[in-house]
Amino acid sequence: MNCLLCEQKLASIPSWQSLFDIETSSLICGNCSKSFERVDIKEEGDIVDHITSIYTYNEPMREYLHQFKFLQDVALAGVFANELRGELARKDAIIVPIPMHPKKKIERTFAHVEEMLVAAGIPFEDLLMKTNTEVMGEKTREERLAMQNLFVIKPGSDIQNTTYILVDDIYTTGTTLRQAAAVLKEAGADRVEAVTLIRAEN
Ligand SMILES: [Zn+2]
Repeated sequence: MNCLLCEQKLASIPSWQSLFDIETSSLICGNCSKSFERVDIKEEGDIVDHITSIYTYNEPMREYLHQFKFLQDVALAGVFANELRGELARKDAIIVPIPMHPKKKIERTFAHVEEMLVAAGIPFEDLLMKTNTEVMGEKTREERLAMQNLFVIKPGSDIQNTTYILVDDIYTTGTTLRQAAAVLKEAGADRVEAVTLIRAEN
């Protein structure tokens, strides 16, 4: 098997662990793995109560995202499975991926954040929907301006008085997470945290 990023042949070490736990077997080589730079930001906030970001947005990470999202290399969804599991292996919270716009989902053919969670074996609930033109079209101009939120709760979803953890690939300004958290809290969520794979400087 070759590294999914640089194509270099992976040294096959049939370790004990890999026999029993296929998910921890490596998809990328040591060099590529080392090229990603941890940032490990953990900060408190008001609308989003706690935010964790794992990596910096350096050049190798930019290339990874490009290959994963835009070249639609879905095999890359599992590259950071261990790191995501490390932050999201919690039984006291409901994991909610940040959705992409329905049109983008059609263009890109897969929901990359969901794919990362699936690859990591992390259970999640798809509770949010991006507001699309169809939903917006039913509202008056005043209502649209008043809304100005990118997200709505999916019809039929039951938001509980508990902790939710939003997951997104990249944190830039934090607007996306704040809007998603506000929607969940308005619907009854007690606490909303967030985990992003990447923190971009803005
Ligand atoms: Zn490599």
